[in-house]
Amino acid sequence: MKKLLITIDGPAGAGKTTVSRALADRLGYRYIDTGALYRGVAYGAKTRGVPPGDDAALARMLAGLRLGLQRTEKGLRLTADGEDITERIRTPEISMLASAVSARPAVRAFLLQVQRELGREKAAVFEGRDMGTVVFPAADVKFFLSASEETRAQRRFAELQGQSPVSLEEVERDMRRRDEQDSTRALAPLRPAVDAIRIDSSAITIEQVVELMLGHVARAAG
Ligand code: C5P
Repeated sequence: MKKLLITIDGPAGAGKTTVSRALADRLGYRYIDTGALYRGVAYGAKTRGVPPGDDAALARMLAGLRLGLQRTEKGLRLTADGEDITERIRTPEISMLASAVSARPAVRAFLLQVQRELGREKAAVFEGRDMGTVVFPAADVKFFLSASEETRAQRRFAELQGQSPVSLEEVERDMRRRDEQDSTRALAPLRPAVDAIRIDSSAITIEQVVELMLGHVARAAG
């Protein structure tokens, strides 16, 4: 069967990660979580004391930062300069910082190259915010996954249980701020590609979303 490059974009908490991983598994494709790369840059900036708004300092830091994504039996792991930072990037602080650094031209240009390199062989599901619009405008199948604000906040809250002591209200507030930042930035704002297939996951299960997507993928694969 033809090897495809599939993109899944959408706001935080829409179920992108679970869906992307399941879709990649069903197809035997690689799953690439591009949000983790932005989180890795945010983590690098935090630990090195680089201000998230300073493009020149970010560019200097990126020149010496080696990010790696590896799939292991424990799931997808992110390393920075060889150190496993998978758990450390999943905090509300890093979420907000990732959103801040992701608006910077130096960061977007750096990760654009990293992501395109990862996509060269196709047979991959890329999850992010600008996969279908900027990084892979010629992707074979593009999805835009959304859900109501309430559903998304509840999903994110459930995900954070046991990891971070936050209330549902805090999750809702952070998510709204992050969506606002991600959708209104000048560079690669979050929006559906004109040729994206839009799916709202508020009223259907993750399994149903994956089945729906598999149908579209099968048609594209011919
Ligand atoms: O998907 P996740 O919540 O891990 O992404 C963290 C942040 O990284 C997002 O809020 C967004 O600002 C940024 N991001 C991006 N472009 C992508 C993926 C993530 O700007 N392709």
